Amino acid sequence: MIRLKNEKQIDGIRKSCKLLSAMFREITPLVKPGVSTLDLDHWALRWIKAAGGKPAFLGYGDRDNPFPGALCISINEEVIHGIPSKRRIAEGDLVSLDSGINLNGFISDQAVTVEAGRVSAAAHALNAATRECLSAGLRAAKAGERLLRISRAVEERARQDGYGIVTRYCGHGVGFEVHEDPQVPNVPKGPNPRLNNGLVIAVEPMITAGKGDVRLLDDGWTVVTSDGRLAAHWEHTLAVCGGAVEVLTEEIAL
Ligand code: MG
Repeated sequence: MIRLKNEKQIDGIRKSCKLLSAMFREITPLVKPGVSTLDLDHWALRWIKAAGGKPAFLGYGDRDNPFPGALCISINEEVIHGIPSKRRIAEGDLVSLDSGINLNGFISDQAVTVEAGRVSAAAHALNAATRECLSAGLRAAKAGERLLRISRAVEERARQDGYGIVTRYCGHGVGFEVHEDPQVPNVPKGPNPRLNNGLVIAVEPMITAGKGDVRLLDDGWTVVTSDGRLAAHWEHTLAVCGGAVEVLTEEIAL
């Protein structure tokens, strides 16, 4: 069931999103060869707490295997939900950071993929195209129109360059919880609600250099490409309010 938000609630989510983007602006320059993903996660935990928020992803999921970090950090063939660890980022890695903040009960969600040091031309092209998939999806989001317009735009941009699209995971409603209805797939399949006032969704293309097939690692979280090829992931949270679409999270210059 889709839980629409009123203007006051959207304002709460907007503030949460602005805070999250402020964190991304500060943490992305720290994503460099030699830094461990656990260091980045500890930095984010401290930053979010100091700003008066709570890390929305920390403790998320099943009680017997809750997500242990404030950030999902997914490197190279890892697509999403990578667990922070002692692994050090290496020159040329594609490092996806995904995070959410709970600010006064309002949840935000954003992801960026950072190029650590100098990456291969192929990795850079994949990353740039994935970011363009997100932009295309956001441009296609029109108040009163159907949700799968977004999915169609993402798919078209990805197919232009022959990239794979992860369809087993997708974007989602957000705001009161980390994951709500509706699903926001990256191909136009499934329920197709209208983008009515009060809808708040996260749009998050997950694009791969090979096929879009993925598998889950034994840690119960990390999703990797089945063929081991690179993946990139970009995400914004948007709201429909006052008869228009507003992207609540902000662009991060990289
Ligand atoms: Mg998300």
